[in-house]
Amino acid sequence: MYPDVKLFIDGKWTAAEGGNTIDVYNPATNEVIGKVASAGKGDLDRALAAAERGFKAWRKVSPFDRAKVLRRAAELMRERVDQIATLMTQEQGKPIGEARMEILSSADLFDWFAEEGRRTYGRVIPARAPGVQQLVVKEPVGPVAAFTPWNFPVSQAVRKIGAALATGCSIIVKPPEETPASPACLADVFKDAGLPDGVLNLVYGNPPEISSYLVPHPIIRKVSFTGSVPVGKHLAALAGTHMKRATMELGGHAPAMVFDDADIDAAAAILAGSKFRNAGQVCVSPTRFLIQEGSHDRFLGKFVEHVRAVKVGDGLAEGTRMGPLVNERRLEAVEKLINEAVSDGARIETGGKRIGNKGSYFEPTVLSAVRPDMRIMNEEPFGPVALVMPFKTFEDVVAEANRLPYGLAAYAFTKSNKTVTDLGSEIETGMLTINHLGLALPETPFGGIKDSGYGSEGGSEALEAYLVTKFLTQVAV
Ligand code: NAD
Repeated sequence: MYPDVKLFIDGKWTAAEGGNTIDVYNPATNEVIGKVASAGKGDLDRALAAAERGFKAWRKVSPFDRAKVLRRAAELMRERVDQIATLMTQEQGKPIGEARMEILSSADLFDWFAEEGRRTYGRVIPARAPGVQQLVVKEPVGPVAAFTPWNFPVSQAVRKIGAALATGCSIIVKPPEETPASPACLADVFKDAGLPDGVLNLVYGNPPEISSYLVPHPIIRKVSFTGSVPVGKHLAALAGTHMKRATMELGGHAPAMVFDDADIDAAAAILAGSKFRNAGQVCVSPTRFLIQEGSHDRFLGKFVEHVRAVKVGDGLAEGTRMGPLVNERRLEAVEKLINEAVSDGARIETGGKRIGNKGSYFEPTVLSAVRPDMRIMNEEPFGPVALVMPFKTFEDVVAEANRLPYGLAAYAFTKSNKTVTDLGSEIETGMLTINHLGLALPETPFGGIKDSGYGSEGGSEALEAYLVTKFLTQVAV
C-alpha cells in the first residue's frame, strides 16, 4: 500500500492548509498511486516557528547525545529497509535492490555523521600577552532550508539532515513531490529515535513558492540544494541576496577517459555496470565516454555487449537491472536529445527509443560518432545514454574533459602512473576516480566545482558547511 503523504511539522503529521494535494505517479505504470500534501504560507510559517524552537533546544544538546539519536536512526533505517525500499521503487522506479542499497548506505551516512559530529573541535591560539586566552569555537549555523531531488529520494535528504543534526542545526526539508513517501519515512525514523519536536520538519508543495518564501526568511540561516544547474544558480543568487550560507550540488556531464594502456575489457564492464544505475539519472553518471583511438572499436564492442544484456522492467520484478525513468517529462527530454543527435550524425549502437506505451521505459542507449557541437554533448542527458567518442592525445582528452562548464565527477582508466599524476593536476573536477568508480562514501568529500556547484556533502567538509566560527578571548583578572 502506498500512503498519502502529509507535512511533518513540529513532530506531527498534518494536512496542508486548505487540504491541497499533488498526485503521485508510479513511473512503471504512469498511474496515480497516492497524493502528497501541498503546503501553503501558513504551513511554512508553522514549520519556520517549529524550526526556530527546535534549534534553540537542539543546539544545547551535547554532540555526544546528538550522536545517540543519529545512531538510533541508523539502526531503525536498517530495520525498516524493506518497507522504505518498496515505497521508493513504487514512486521512483529504480530496481528494488538499488533502493535497498540506498537505504542501507543512508544508515551508514547517519552513523558517520553521528561520530564526526563529536569531532567538531575548535582550537586554542597562543596569546601575545600573559593571562590572555584565545579560543576558536564551532557553533551550528542555525535553522536550515534544504531542497532535495527525486533521483535519490532518501540519501540526498540524509546527506543534509545528517550534517545538520550532527552539528546542532534544525532543518526544514522540502523533499521531491515526485517521490515523497520514502523520504517521509525519515521523519518517523527520527521521531522514534527520540529527536525533539521541531528539529526536523518536512514540507512539500510548489518548489519555487516554497524556496522563495523560506530562503529569504530571517529564521533560515543556511540553504542546501541538490538539483539542476539553472535552479541552483537561481537559489544561490537568492541566498546571496539575503546573505545565507549555501551548499549547491548540481548537475554534471562526467567524462570517462579510457587510455590505450588500460585494461579495456575491465573498463567496459565497470562503466556499463555504472552507467545504467538509476536509469542514468545520477549527477555523477559517466556520460562522455572518451576512448583513445587504438582502443575505441574494442571498447565499443565490449561495452555494447554489456549494455544489450541490461534487463529493463518494473523495479519490483525479479531480475530487473534498470527501471523506468522517473516520469514522462524526463523520458521526453532524453528522447529529444537522442533524436537531435542522430539527425546531426550520431550513430545508434544500441537502444535509442522508448519501450512500449505503459510506464516511462527507455532502452539503454549507446551513441557513437558524436561530436562536441551536438546538444547532447553539452547538456546533461540525465538518462540511460552513453556517448562514445575517440581521442588522440592526452592533451586532446584533457581539453574535451574540461570543455564544459560542469565539474562534478570524472573517471579514467590507465595503467600509467604518469597519466594518473597528470590527470590529477589537469582535470577540472570535484571528484576523480581512476581504474574504479569508488566515490560517494560518507567519509569522502562529495561535490563539484564550476557550474556543478560548491560545498561538499561528504567527509568532514560536509559538517563545516553547517558550522560557523566564533572567536572568544578573555584575560584573567
Ligand atoms: P528541474 O530543474 O525542473 O528540477 C530539479 C529539482 O529542483 C526538482 O527536485 C524540483 O522540485 C526542484 N526545483 C525546481 N525549481 C525549484 C525552485 N525554484 N526552488 C526549489 N526547488 C526547485 O529538473 P527535473 O526535470 O526535475 O530534473 C532534471 C534535471 O535536474 C537534470 O537534468 C539534472 O540536471 C537535475 N537533477 C540533478 C540532480 C543531482 O543529483 N544533482 C538530481 C535531480 C535532478
